[in-house]
Amino acid sequence: MACHNCELGNFRKENNYKIVWGEGSLNARIMLVGEAPGENEALEGRPFIGRSGKLLRKLLSEFLDIKKDIFITNTVLCRPPNNREPNIEEQLSCYPHLDTTFHLIKPKLILTAGKVAAEWLSRITHKDYKIYQLEEAEWDDVWFLWLPLYHPSYLLRKPTEKDKFKATLEKYSKIIKKLVR
Ligand code: URA
Repeated sequence: MACHNCELGNFRKENNYKIVWGEGSLNARIMLVGEAPGENEALEGRPFIGRSGKLLRKLLSEFLDIKKDIFITNTVLCRPPNNREPNIEEQLSCYPHLDTTFHLIKPKLILTAGKVAAEWLSRITHKDYKIYQLEEAEWDDVWFLWLPLYHPSYLLRKPTEKDKFKATLEKYSKIIKKLVR
């Protein structure tokens, strides 16, 4: 499908980029949402495959199996010019695609990577979803839990923060273990 819901569709077409639909198991119970595809991702049509993506996948794989336990996507599915942040209009235009993915996967845990994805998730007020910070969550009552994480490109700039990223996942490792098969 060639989506032209927003300007990013034209930029994609001009550059022969692909739509980055997301990647992972449709049976996964954990979903990670990043900011937006970068150039490597847009060329390959796969999320988080560049330098920061490799780091993210390495850190996550200490806690789960990337191929079967998680579905990885972004707030928008096309690359923004010059790696700028996707704006709210673009995120809203793309939301129907993400909503379809949510309904397919029905994640029990959403990991957001970075500020843009965290703000995006806070903004979504879909009637079917209740969003809780993990600390406040009562496991059985919620549709999904939300765990905000650093974006891996921040960790590339500040490698000393990798330990904090891992400590956050470690803190919730019991929940993660419950969700992986
Ligand atoms: N950064 C993101 O936020 N998403 C990607 O897919 C790649 C880099």
